Amino acid sequence: MKVGIPRVLLFYRYYPMWKAFFESLGVEVIPSSITNKQIMDASVEHAVSEACLPIKLAYGHILDLKDKVDYVFLPRIVGLEYKTYMCPKFLGLPDMIRNSEIDAPPIIENTIDKRNLRDGFLRGFFDLGRMFTKNKSRILKAYLEGLSALKEYNKKLETGASPLEIIDGEKFKNDDPKIRIGIVGHCYEIYDEFISGGMLRTLNKLGAKALSMEMFDWKTILKDADVLPKKLFWTFGRELYGTARYIIRNRLVDGVILVVAFGCGPDSLVRELIERDLIKPINFPEITITIDEHSSELGLVTRLEAFIDMLSRRKQSENNLSTVW
Ligand code: SF4
Repeated sequence: MKVGIPRVLLFYRYYPMWKAFFESLGVEVIPSSITNKQIMDASVEHAVSEACLPIKLAYGHILDLKDKVDYVFLPRIVGLEYKTYMCPKFLGLPDMIRNSEIDAPPIIENTIDKRNLRDGFLRGFFDLGRMFTKNKSRILKAYLEGLSALKEYNKKLETGASPLEIIDGEKFKNDDPKIRIGIVGHCYEIYDEFISGGMLRTLNKLGAKALSMEMFDWKTILKDADVLPKKLFWTFGRELYGTARYIIRNRLVDGVILVVAFGCGPDSLVRELIERDLIKPINFPEITITIDEHSSELGLVTRLEAFIDMLSRRKQSENNLSTVW
């Protein structure tokens, strides 16, 4: 049996775990192709126009898998931490796909919900495993193999490797970067080089090292978001705010790129908070890149070049930023 995993949403966060889990149960895993023009065109043609680009892309990636697999794995991820939700579009995506006109393979859409349950992950994987075997110890073994693959993956990320290097075999120069840039955005925007206009490749060519949330301990990042007087409702909001605060507060980067998706409600709120609380009080260097289906790589490269240039000059002459923390 072949299961396809669309290269969208939390793919670059969990792919190694899902792959190890399925393979342990004797299921062949096929990821969809790296986003390309054909996938983008199919996404825009079939998705509802109100959706953000990352959600639209799911349509094109599922169509890319259409003739290659028996099932498409598209879990309904409700929550990844206590009393906090994922974006509602995550919750509704399997229904959106099922009710669309696209001729998709059957969708495996089991629920993963850790909001109130410590074992929300385990339960989700047990439900999933039961589709392939009735043997509970086999499912448990597959789950543990999945977790250990995820741990290995996270360890590599914490050394500063990019998911694109680990999963897609991209090669980045990592030696002695002149500038360090914090990329604050969702993994499905940053690591999709087609929709991000090749941002990571460009930064690498310009001699900058990109640091993103995936390279730090997740719980530490979320703790940095807990300073807000009211806990943010969405996990993604907490991740973005926590990442920005953590890397700025610890002086890990010379500048920050905020990556936001056009039409994303949570991003528009959190971007405002980050700018108001973290960027403006200390005049920290920042640019915002908005991603949609019309973004142009050329325009992005020009902006990144100018930003890196500005940071290099600033590093030489203005090394004493004040701090508010
Ligand atoms: S958080 Fe924003 S970008 Fe992500 S799926 Fe939801 S609306 Fe889209």
